[in-house]
Amino acid sequence: MPHLLALDQGTTSSRAIVFDGSGSAQEIAQREFTQHFPRPGWVEHDPAEIWDSQLATARDVLGRGAAVEAIGITNQRETVVVWDRATGTPVHNAIVWQDRRTSARCDALRRDGAADLISRKTGLEVDAYFSGTKIEWILDNVNGARPRAERGELCAGTIDSWLVWNLTGGAVHATDASNASRTMLLDIHSGEWDPELCDLLRVPIGILPEVRDSSGSFGRTDASLGLGDLEILGVLGDQQAALAGQACLEPGMAKNTYGTGCFMLMNTGPEARCSSNRLLTTIAWRLGGRIDYALEGSVFIGGAAVQWLRDGLGIIENAPQIEALASSVDDSGGVHVVPAFVGLGAPYWDQDARGTIVGITRGTSAAHIARATLEGIAHQVCDLHEAMTNDAGSATSELRVDGGASANDLLMQMQADLLQAPLVRPRVTETTALGAAFAAGMAAGVWESNAEVEAIWAADARFEPRMSADDARAARASWKRAVERSRGWAVES
Ligand code: ADP
Repeated sequence: MPHLLALDQGTTSSRAIVFDGSGSAQEIAQREFTQHFPRPGWVEHDPAEIWDSQLATARDVLGRGAAVEAIGITNQRETVVVWDRATGTPVHNAIVWQDRRTSARCDALRRDGAADLISRKTGLEVDAYFSGTKIEWILDNVNGARPRAERGELCAGTIDSWLVWNLTGGAVHATDASNASRTMLLDIHSGEWDPELCDLLRVPIGILPEVRDSSGSFGRTDASLGLGDLEILGVLGDQQAALAGQACLEPGMAKNTYGTGCFMLMNTGPEARCSSNRLLTTIAWRLGGRIDYALEGSVFIGGAAVQWLRDGLGIIENAPQIEALASSVDDSGGVHVVPAFVGLGAPYWDQDARGTIVGITRGTSAAHIARATLEGIAHQVCDLHEAMTNDAGSATSELRVDGGASANDLLMQMQADLLQAPLVRPRVTETTALGAAFAAGMAAGVWESNAEVEAIWAADARFEPRMSADDARAARASWKRAVERSRGWAVES
């Protein structure tokens, strides 16, 4: 049976997973790497350490003897590297998606009236999160970088392009359309770098990688790496890879990942839906030149609220314990926890909202707070889902779930109840890496159609709504009152 090597380059670790043709993970290796916080709000990675950790995991799993057909890459999105085209040496650390150093620049872009143009062409909100202003910052702040970029001596790109460059020994400087759509430099409708946006963000277009299909050739591994001669046949940004790994291949299908934050993506097919609810429009993937799009919304604090109960309040010792504590009461006793610790994302986009607990009485216990915290995660996901359903004009038949907190059956049941829609958790929860393997395996001919990939995806558990529609409506209305209490809190009086 043919095997595929997925390289999963995440924010805190690099992993390599070998999947067999039935989509089960055969070998896994993982290496963490250093997080650099040079100033408050700044987050950097050393590109050499990213590459070394990724290469080490690949050598590790291949060293266990698996015969691998091809490589698929999935990666933390938006993080950028700028490097010397001749030597391959980075001119600065990678600036990570979480880094806020270009916030003021984004404020200025909005003040200058660029938000409309940017959202129309890129489907994104103007935000420091995306790559464009990070590249601009490096060119402006590294001595000599801008003239060198203009002379064509530098390369820039997201982490996928940095890995492709290194894997191919500098032969290929390319990215896929899903990663490119997170830079604020790509016209998502044409799928090409946009000269007007590049001018606006002062990024010489010549330093950007070639944009390729997500499933197709990105070159072959360099002989000196000790990986053998393997072709890189798939590249997808992590959330789009999870969408693929959940086999959400048809328009209207959606997945939600419950990690530190939550990420919901809905496949909208060849149509780029503009959001009226402040969701992002993004490229899901490009296959055979055809672009499929997705709507995307994120919740900043999802599973992180459970970490806060553990570390901040100390009412649980580990994350899974929340399930027993929250189950020890029948309901949250009228308490709502709005985990707006760092503001609220879509559809509110309120930077000044702050975490709020409302409805506390003399009868409130730690168990009620725990239960309300899980409900707070589920309600935020409902907020995203409502926005998405409004934008898409139709409801999804089911929501596919993954991520660490999706292991919590109580949370999943609450979610199905509040959504009034079924939830499905797959057997393989490594959906991000699996999506990269799917992209590579489709190009390698391991799987020849969407139907074959869909047949690999299998449900492990299904959660049907048990709450009445009236009760769900009342709970949602009550949540919205609680959200109102949290909004605008951090504004100075
Ligand atoms: P990330 O990829 O963002 O690091 P993971 O997918 O590994 O996140 O999920 C980890 C998050 O899930 C943590 O925030 C943790 O608090 C939460 N979590 C893990 N297990 C559970 C559980 N059983 N119930 C609720 N939350 C959980």
